[in-house]
Amino acid sequence: LATTPGVKQSHLNKGTGRVPVGLGRRRMRVVVTGGAGFVGSHLVDKLLDRGDEVIVIDNFFTGRRDNVKHHFGNTRFELIRHDVVEPILLEVDQIYHLACPASPVHYKYNPVKTIISFSSFSCYPDSTNVMGTLNMLGLAKRIGARFLLTSTSEVYGDPLEHPQKETYWGHVNPIGKQREVIFSGVRSCYDEGKRTAETLTMDYHRGADVEVRIARIFNTYGPRMCLDDGRVVSNFVAQAIRKQPLTVYGDGKQTRSFQFVSDLVDGLVALMESEHVGPFNLGNPGEFTMLELAQVVKETIDSSATIAFKPNTADDPHKRKPDISKAKELLNWEPKISLREGLPKMVSDFRNRILNEDEGKGN
Ligand code: NAD
Ligand code: UDP
Ligand code: UDP
Repeated sequence: LATTPGVKQSHLNKGTGRVPVGLGRRRMRVVVTGGAGFVGSHLVDKLLDRGDEVIVIDNFFTGRRDNVKHHFGNTRFELIRHDVVEPILLEVDQIYHLACPASPVHYKYNPVKTIISFSSFSCYPDSTNVMGTLNMLGLAKRIGARFLLTSTSEVYGDPLEHPQKETYWGHVNPIGKQREVIFSGVRSCYDEGKRTAETLTMDYHRGADVEVRIARIFNTYGPRMCLDDGRVVSNFVAQAIRKQPLTVYGDGKQTRSFQFVSDLVDGLVALMESEHVGPFNLGNPGEFTMLELAQVVKETIDSSATIAFKPNTADDPHKRKPDISKAKELLNWEPKISLREGLPKMVSDFRNRILNEDEGKGN
C-alpha cells in the first residue's frame, strides 16, 4: 500500500516543527520504544550517527542500560524508564515502536515458574502489543508524528505458502494445543498480539490519518542479543563458547532465514523514510535448517562442538523464508551480510559477556 499523495503527507511537516539543518535534511527528534534492547540499541546508534535526537523509552524487561551506555553524555540522547502500556506525552517527529517481550523461551526452564509466569505472561505480550501500540499510535495522532511498527514473520504462523509474501494472510493457531498449554499459549499470544498491533496500526492510518509504516521482521541476530533468551542463534553461539552441546529441537530439519542486525536497521530506516505504508518483509532470504545452522556455528567457533537433540515445542513453524521482492523494488533495500559473514561479528561480544558473567560468579 502506498500512502495517498496529498492526504497522508499533511503530517510530514508537523512533529517538532524544526527548521532544516545541514544540506536540506532537518534534524529529527525520534522516539525508539524498546531502544535498550537488541535491535533497538543498534537502531539508536544509526539514528544518532546521522545527527538525529533520540529518546529511548524502555522498561528494561529484556533490555539493558549497557546496550546504550556509550551514548550517556551525548546531549542528543535521552533514556526514559517507562512502560509503554502507560500513556506518555512527548513532542517528536518519528516513533519507532519496538517495545515488546520478543523471546518467551526462558519461561520454559522451570515448569513451576513457567506455570506461574504463564498466567501473567499470556496477557503480557498482548497488553504490550495492544496497549503499548495503542498509546504510541495515540501519541503519533496527537503530535502528527510518523509511526513505524516492528511486526514479525510470526504473523504468518506455520506457513502454507513458501516463501512468504506480504499478501499471505498466515496460518496461526490462535489458541494453542490444550494439552500443551504452556508452550503453545506463549507462541499464540505473541503471534496474535502482533497481528492485532498491525490491525490497530492500519485503523489509525485509515481512520485518523496517521502516517504509519509496518515492517515484518524475520529472525535477526547479532551483537547484544540476550545471552540466554532461548533464540536459536544466541543459544548455539553461547553454547559453543561455553563448550556445551548445541541443543537442536526436534529433528533439526525445520528452516529459518537469518538476518544480520545492521541489515535490518538499514531496512527499518529505509522504510520509515519511504512513502510506503507496507507491510514489508525485512529478512535475509538465505534459508537454513537448524542442523545447517549448527554446522556454520561449529565452523565459526568450535569444530569439536557436539549436538544434543531435544524435543521441539508445539506449533513450531516448519519453514520460514521471506520473499523480499517488494522491499527490493519499493525501498531499494536488500540484506548485504550472509550468515557466514555475520556470525563471526557477534562472537567477540558474546565471548566478552560470557567471560564477565563467569568472573562475576567468581569462576
Ligand atoms: P529485545 O527483547 O532485545 O528488545 C525489546 C525491548 O523492548 C527490550 O529493551 C525491552 O526491555 C523493551 N520492552 C518490552 N516490553 C516493554 C514495555 N512494556 N515498555 C517498554 N519497553 C518494553 O527484542 P528485539 O529482538 O530487539 O526485538 C525488537 C522488536 O523487533 C520487537 O518488537 C520484536 O517483536 C521485533 N522482532 C524481532 C525479531 C528478532 O529476530 N530479533 C524478529 C521479529 C520481530
Ligand atoms: N496517548 C498517549 N500520548 C499522547 C496521546 C495519547 O499516550 O500524547 C494514549 C492515550 O492515553 C490513549 C491512547 O494513546 O490511551 C489512544 O489515544 P487516542 O487519542 O487515539 O484515543 P482516546 O484517548 O481518544 O481514546
Ligand atoms: N531451536 C533449536 N534450538 C534452540 C532454540 C531453538 O533448534 O536451542 C529451533 C526452534 O525449535 C525453531 C528455530 O530454532 O525451530 C528458531 O527458533 P527461535 O526461537 O530462534 O525463533 P522462532 O521460532 O521465533 O523463529
